[in-house]
Amino acid sequence: MNNLVPKDINLVPFVSVDNMMKIVLEIGIENSLVGICDYLEEDFKRWELFDKTPRVASHSNEGVIELMPTSDGEVYGFKYVNGHPKNTKEGLQTVTAFGVLADVNTGYPVLLSEMTILTALRTASTSAMAAKYLMPEGSKSMAMIGNGAQSEFQALAFKAICGIKELRLYDIDPSATDRCIKNLAGRGLNIVKCDSEQSAVEGADIITTVTADKQYATILTDNMVGDSVHINAVGGDCPGKTELHKDILLRSKIFVEYPPQTRIEGEIQQLDEDYPVTELWQVMTGEAEGRTDQKQITLFDSVGFAIEDFSALRYIRDQLEKTGEYQNLDMVADPDDPRDLFGMILRARENMSSKGK
Ligand code: NAD
Repeated sequence: MNNLVPKDINLVPFVSVDNMMKIVLEIGIENSLVGICDYLEEDFKRWELFDKTPRVASHSNEGVIELMPTSDGEVYGFKYVNGHPKNTKEGLQTVTAFGVLADVNTGYPVLLSEMTILTALRTASTSAMAAKYLMPEGSKSMAMIGNGAQSEFQALAFKAICGIKELRLYDIDPSATDRCIKNLAGRGLNIVKCDSEQSAVEGADIITTVTADKQYATILTDNMVGDSVHINAVGGDCPGKTELHKDILLRSKIFVEYPPQTRIEGEIQQLDEDYPVTELWQVMTGEAEGRTDQKQITLFDSVGFAIEDFSALRYIRDQLEKTGEYQNLDMVADPDDPRDLFGMILRARENMSSKGK
């Protein structure tokens, strides 16, 4: 990343929710999804260079709060994110997030950003990027089970990145499906509202599961899934939280982000700890095979990994000069003598008393 250090190193660009919405609207939602996908591809293709660790999770009965750090040696990034499925009943969101980039050379932060919207964008771009490499040739129809906050982003990423034309929607709460249909109106997708998981997956080339429930759920059973499909399993992303019946996993070729994290959090927590899986980045660099047969079931067992947030933050940072959508935060203390931090407070007190405060 060039020009990592801003002109005034003590001021940190802050992208608020309002700024993020304006950036996305100015660039266009689909263009933003494609742009983030480009940054993801760049970073997945240099995967080995990154510091990697499973995210640090603090679980409670109601949800989880997580920190997701990584670094490419020049830039460090982390995301704070929660997952609280019960929140929607209280008028709150299931997932909220913010993130930071910092200059490895000085350790100074160079970006603070909202990441609730950005997480939905990066998750959708990652899903569509994986599908681009794994889906059956000529895929045109996607079933989406779970029509909550992530769903419109997923739909548009698959349209823009994979060329999906038909969307088959199902949610246990029909009002969620109605909202999703309304929000996607006029965007060039042929949308079918379905009354069961079974009818949603009929004829679909891609099946996305993006439900929220803090338990071992079975959104799809084995008999619902035929050959020649790609499954994009997004919702199972915590210990004890899965969406697919184990038999589907046993019939699929499974692709993951970072195995040590996915084995704890993904669908594959249902399998033996040495069950063979393929890392997505290796398919992207040509080191491993993706789909090897049109009839195969491929499964992207998505849990969300720190490098994806890093790519998304990098993308947003590169949009700031063009859009001007940020505010500078006075976030790093700046004493005249770097060792005289205490004196800086004393001088501030003198300033305050000279102004009669
Ligand atoms: P949300 O609460 O806004 O929406 C979830 C939807 O799933 C709701 O509309 C709910 O009615 C529906 N649902 C629940 N159980 C269902 C069932 N059995 N069948 C059909 N529909 C069902 O949540 P969200 O923000 O859209 O997130 C969805 C899931 O995706 C969460 O579990 C979240 O943790 C996960 N997620 C994963 C990633 C990742 O990178 N893999 C990123 C973000 C979110």
